[in-house]
Amino acid sequence: MGATLSRTIKDQLAQVKVSPESISIIGISHYHWDHTGQAAGFPQAKLLLGKGDVEALRQPGNERAKPLEHWLTGGGTLEEVTGDKDVFGDGSVIMLDLPGHTPGHHGLLVTLSKTGPVLLSGDVAHFRENFESDGVPTFNDDRAKSLASLARFKAISKNLKALTIIQHEPGDIAKLPAFPASAD
Ligand SMILES: [Zn+2]
Repeated sequence: MGATLSRTIKDQLAQVKVSPESISIIGISHYHWDHTGQAAGFPQAKLLLGKGDVEALRQPGNERAKPLEHWLTGGGTLEEVTGDKDVFGDGSVIMLDLPGHTPGHHGLLVTLSKTGPVLLSGDVAHFRENFESDGVPTFNDDRAKSLASLARFKAISKNLKALTIIQHEPGDIAKLPAFPASAD
């Protein structure tokens, strides 16, 4: 697997005049490299990560721990999230407990004033095709939990009539305004 990064999140934040130091919280859906790689640019921020993922990363010799070492070794504030987590206490941003892909995997529900509920998948499904067919990748941590999480994610999507973004699906990314525009 490969990925190209032409502009970092820090570069993009600079374009909209947000300094990295002003970011107080970062949340990560799960420990795979394509979801953790830029965390180290925000060392002063509190890291929110599912407890199941934190425990897996703390196993000796886990290479996946490297991008998050700063928090795992006590250099930064780490909150091990269990269950759902209402990040600001007002329901606007909720980490959804969706284990299976990894032990502590979470998705995200963001409620915006105009757009309404927006659901971000993490890797509860990688593509529309898995989402529609309940396909579970063989590399997932737990198949039964993956299916239960996908069923929960689909039910929330349907019940809230949420704008649902499967994050590795290009057609879904296109449903959101392209940077530097933002959904409101
Ligand atoms: Zn993943």
